[in-house]
Parts: sequence; C-alpha cells; structure tokens
Amino acid sequence: MSTTTRITAVDTYDIRFPTSRELDGSDAMNPDPDYSAAYVVLRTSDGGHEGHGFTFTIGRGNDVQVAAIDALRPHVLGRPVAELCADPGSLYQDLIGDSQLRWLGPEKGVMHMAIGAVVNAVWDLAAKREGKPLWQLLADAEPEWLVSQIDFRYITDALTPDEALELLTKGKHGASDRAAELLRRGYPAYTTSPGWLGYSDEKLTRLAHEAVADGFRHIKLKVGADLADDIRRCRTARAAVGPDIRMAIDANQRWNVAEAIEWTKALTEFDPYWIEEPTSPDDILGHAAIRQGVSPVKVATGEHVQNRIVFKQLLQAGAIDILQLDSARVAGVNENLAILLLAAKFGVPVCPHAGGVGLCELVQHLSMFDYVALTGTTDDRVIEFVDHLHEHFLDPVVISDGHYQAPTAPGFSATMYQATIDTYRYPDGSFWAAELTDDRKADA
Ligand SMILES: [Mg+2]
Repeated sequence: MSTTTRITAVDTYDIRFPTSRELDGSDAMNPDPDYSAAYVVLRTSDGGHEGHGFTFTIGRGNDVQVAAIDALRPHVLGRPVAELCADPGSLYQDLIGDSQLRWLGPEKGVMHMAIGAVVNAVWDLAAKREGKPLWQLLADAEPEWLVSQIDFRYITDALTPDEALELLTKGKHGASDRAAELLRRGYPAYTTSPGWLGYSDEKLTRLAHEAVADGFRHIKLKVGADLADDIRRCRTARAAVGPDIRMAIDANQRWNVAEAIEWTKALTEFDPYWIEEPTSPDDILGHAAIRQGVSPVKVATGEHVQNRIVFKQLLQAGAIDILQLDSARVAGVNENLAILLLAAKFGVPVCPHAGGVGLCELVQHLSMFDYVALTGTTDDRVIEFVDHLHEHFLDPVVISDGHYQAPTAPGFSATMYQATIDTYRYPDGSFWAAELTDDRKADA
C-alpha cells in the first residue's frame, strides 16, 4: 500500500447568507444580494491539513457555481499532496486545459471562477503545510519558482517571463525590511461600509463619521441609480468626512460610455478620487474613452474582469488608473500573480476589490505580497474593506487604524467555521431549513 499522502475528497458546499434583508451590499445593479460562497474543502489521506477555497456569488446561481466546482473533482482526486503543493501551477494548467470544460469559457465566467476556488484551496493547503500565511509563502519564494507558476500564454506581448523574473528579483531587495514594516503597521485599507445605495442619509453620515474616527483615509460611495440622489449623497458624504479624505464612487457597470462621462462630471464638485466600474468590464476602449473624458478623476475597474488577458488590454490601452483585481473572480493565485506583474510592469497601482464573503480575508495576502516582494510600495494603494461576515472565518481580517493587520496564521485565511457551514448551507442548513418551513406555512 502506498504511503504517499493524496487528496481523498473534494467536498463542496452552497453557503448563502440572508444579507438582502438589511440592504447590505446594495448598489445600482445589485439591489438585493444574498452574499454567498461556493465553498470547497480538499481533504487528504493523512487526515492532516485541509485546503479551503471558495468563490463569491450573490445568491441564486450559487448552486450552478458549486456544480462547476464539482465538475473539476476528477482532476483533483488522488493527486499526491506534496507534489500538488510544490507546484500548484500544474493543477491550474490541467484545469484550464480540460478541453471539454474549456468550451464553457474559455478562461472566463462560472467555470473559471470554479477553477479559482479549487486553485486557491490548493494554495491554502500549501501555505498551511509550510506553516506560513500565504503572503509570506509568496514573499519568501524564489523569483524563478514564482515565474514557473504563471501562465504567460496570451500575455507575452505585454509581459515576458524574463521581464517577470526581473521585476520579482528587484522586488526581493529590501523585502525583509518591508515584511517587518508590514507586521508593524499593516496595509492601508479603505471602507465601503458607509456607501451602500440602500442606506439613508443619516446612516451614511453616521457611518462616514465612524470611518474617519476609525482611521480610514479613504471611503467609497455607490452611485448610478439616480443622479439627483447621487449629488445629494456625495454632498452629504463630503460634508461628513471633510476635504482631506479620499472619496471614491462606484457605478457597478451601470452606464453607457457617454453617460458615464456626463454623470461623473456632474459629481466632480465633490472631488471623487476614482470612478469605479463606470461601464461593462469587457469594454476596454469604452474605459479608455471614459478615462479621457473624466480626467482628473481616475478610472478603476477589475472586480468583474474575467482574466489576465482583459487586464492586459486595459493596461495596454491606457484605459485604467487603478487595477482592482479580485481574489476569486479569476483562476486563483496563479492568474493573480500574472495580473500583479502586469500592473507592476505598467506602473498601475493595484487597489483590490474585496467585501462579499471572505474576499477581504483572501485578497489581503496578494497585496501584502505585492508590497513586500514585488512593487515595494503602498503609495496610492488601498485594499477595500467591508465590515460584513468576517465572524464566520477562523482567521478573520483584523483592521486597526485603517490598516489591514498582516495575518500570521498559516494558510490563506479561507477557513470557515463548521457551524457556519451547518447553519447557512442552502437549502438544508438550519437557518434555511427553518426559513423554507416558515415560507411553506405562510403559503398554506
Ligand atoms: Mg465595486
């Protein structure tokens, strides 16, 4: 009998939180999200560390996302754990290279997000086995090995493996000093908590005051549903925070190109720092036109950008000032390494998207790696922070004085409490089972 430790189970869970009841997370395109995670646990034959990963959805369709993860199971089961963790890129290549599943993308959408969940679970497992938080595993890694983890197909016209190696080698200089500084001070955050569209002006004012008192230097407001409302809300928020706090606005893809320019210009008197997702995340030339039209307001996008190739084109076209990668939209850490390197090559700051379920927990590791061992700076860089649902994670983010504190627990901070899974699993977790019973009684 072989003594090699192998992956013996790929367990998936459809986890949904009833956030729509409080209008948490409401914006111009998503009025009633139930924040959800399509969650995966990799279990091993030695019963030791597990790999946890997930992707984020907002309710209906989370079952479709789980089914997509299930479709990847045959690629993962039986893999030797040591080999897998020494080279997560090998699994990433097999997953994006499954020719029949690839038809559903290629490298975009539900299938690609499923790959992200599985790949991130492998990185969680690898970091736990190394006894390091993921940011540190990445920062300690040899540049050559990091380059080996990246798929350069379709991006060599913008970034070659040699250029990536040069950037990562340069990033090593001073890395240990920066790691110490990171552990001391943390990484700058901004907060979206005051700015959800469904909140009253009173709640907006109260939460904006709280944000500044808590040390945040940057907040964000949702816009794009009604211009008169946006003018009033931006005025309210600016009055609450004063002139020195950066205030970004986020339209969640609501507009056409000309409309995006006009609407943003109508809000410029409130000094917005960036306009986020002004239009479709696929519209590279549209973003370039908007950037021309709204300058000096910066243009930001990325949370729905589907892969490294679209990011490459946004950078090549000079279409964005701020790149907002997401930990769970693309195919996991491997593809995000490519995206961080593309941003570094083009000198565009990365201010990641987070919030949702567990996205803060994941993405902090990528920005911290970027600071310690790639770009070496946090200037004009902030990680989004939303104060929702962290209590469901074993190793939740810690924000202090407007900064993410560097995680020190081994792994990718992805592990949810079993009690959370048992309660919010849809439709048979205890919360939903009781809800659905109540609904049936009400219908009777
Ligand atoms: Mg956004």
